Amino acid sequence: MRIGVIGAGMAGLTFAALIRRYGHEVELSERAADFSQTGYALGLWPMGSRVLNALGLRDRFEAVSQPAGHYRVRDGQGEPVVEYSLERIRAEHGAFGTLMRGELLDLLRSAAPDIPLRFNCALQSLIDDGHGVEAGFTDGSSRRFDLLVGTDGIHSTVRRLLYGDSPDTDTGWGCWVWTSDAIATERDLIEETWAARALVGTYPTRRTVCAIAGGASAVLGPTITGGAPDAIAAAFSELHDDACRVVSTFPADPAARFWWQLSDHRVKTWYRGRVALMGDSACAFLPTAGVGASMALESAAVLADELSRAELKFIERSLHSYAQRRQKRAEAAQDDSRTLAKYMLVDSRPLAWVRDRAMHFYSLDRMLASIQKSLVEPI
Ligand SMILES: Cc1cc2nc3c(=O)[nH]c(=O)nc-3n(C[C@H](O)[C@H](O)[C@H](O)COP(=O)(O)OP(=O)(O)OC[C@H]3O[C@@H](n4cnc5c(N)ncnc54)[C@H](O)[C@@H]3O)c2cc1C
Repeated sequence: MRIGVIGAGMAGLTFAALIRRYGHEVELSERAADFSQTGYALGLWPMGSRVLNALGLRDRFEAVSQPAGHYRVRDGQGEPVVEYSLERIRAEHGAFGTLMRGELLDLLRSAAPDIPLRFNCALQSLIDDGHGVEAGFTDGSSRRFDLLVGTDGIHSTVRRLLYGDSPDTDTGWGCWVWTSDAIATERDLIEETWAARALVGTYPTRRTVCAIAGGASAVLGPTITGGAPDAIAAAFSELHDDACRVVSTFPADPAARFWWQLSDHRVKTWYRGRVALMGDSACAFLPTAGVGASMALESAAVLADELSRAELKFIERSLHSYAQRRQKRAEAAQDDSRTLAKYMLVDSRPLAWVRDRAMHFYSLDRMLASIQKSLVEPI
């Protein structure tokens, strides 16, 4: 089978490396010019890191990622609100580590460096004539595939070409994201401050610390603040000193930071004809529970598994099985991320006060129930 994979991110690279092992011919197309953008810190839950075992990457993942020990939430005054043991997750279920997105891309690419990958090559059209898929790219080229897999992220072109435009589910919040070596924090601690109209987080990797500063887009977004460090610092000045110190490392250089709108997306059907969606293109995640990449890796493993037994003539059956195995599970994890967002992104002080007290009773174990279930249930 000749398979075109659109987007060389988490899902695309993982799927390409896995499916090639079953003798299929696979090719990746990527809109970006290269992998040089390191991006942001990603936490991989054990269900995601397990997929790396299948690619022989387990030892290298452990060498390059920072084992996460604790997740702590503090209120605007710096008082601890909740603590969640990631050490326990690691002890009971397997590796949980954080690393930069670019580091994970390099790792995944190293599993199959010879798979053809065309950079600067964005998909812009597709025609599925029932016997194959004709794909057109921005570099003027076109390719014909037996199967096309859209792994092109939250703002997926493949999804748009299949189903038309559909709006993201937007929280109205966003966050500035950057890295700094000057942030002093415990290496194995993921820490967030949840205040009214403000969110600050630190996510250490082995080499640096990724930070976020979030709030209502209408107050903190690029069109309002322009990303000016003074404006960002002023927006968080009422928070406790540690949070202010984190925000003080916000870089003046626009190339060293980016704004991420906190929105997600869900699609009704994960495939149509000979085109499948995978990862964020099918079910995009808020970063709140840090599980989008893990779900993308799992989906890659499942589609590769289904295609390992597929017959081209009945390809839609395999895609149907893939969607049946994946959609509910991914959407349940997405629901957990949405629940967490409701607690995390609070606009008023009274609500934040109530939330902080409620958090003592409504535990993270409950908020993350589906994600925790997926650690032990078969995919
Ligand atoms: C700030 C932030 C923090 C996050 N933290 C976590 C975390 O801690 N843990 C976690 O699990 N998840 C986290 N996520 C979410 C996670 O990054 C995504 O869920 C995951 O990357 C999805 O993988 P993907 O392969 O579907 O998409 P992506 O990794 O986004 O890859 C999509 C790729 O497709 C390419 N592309 C787009 N359009 C086209 C086109 N038309 N043609 C060709 N190529 C195209 C893009 O350039 C990109 O390389 C975070 C996200 C953000 C923004």
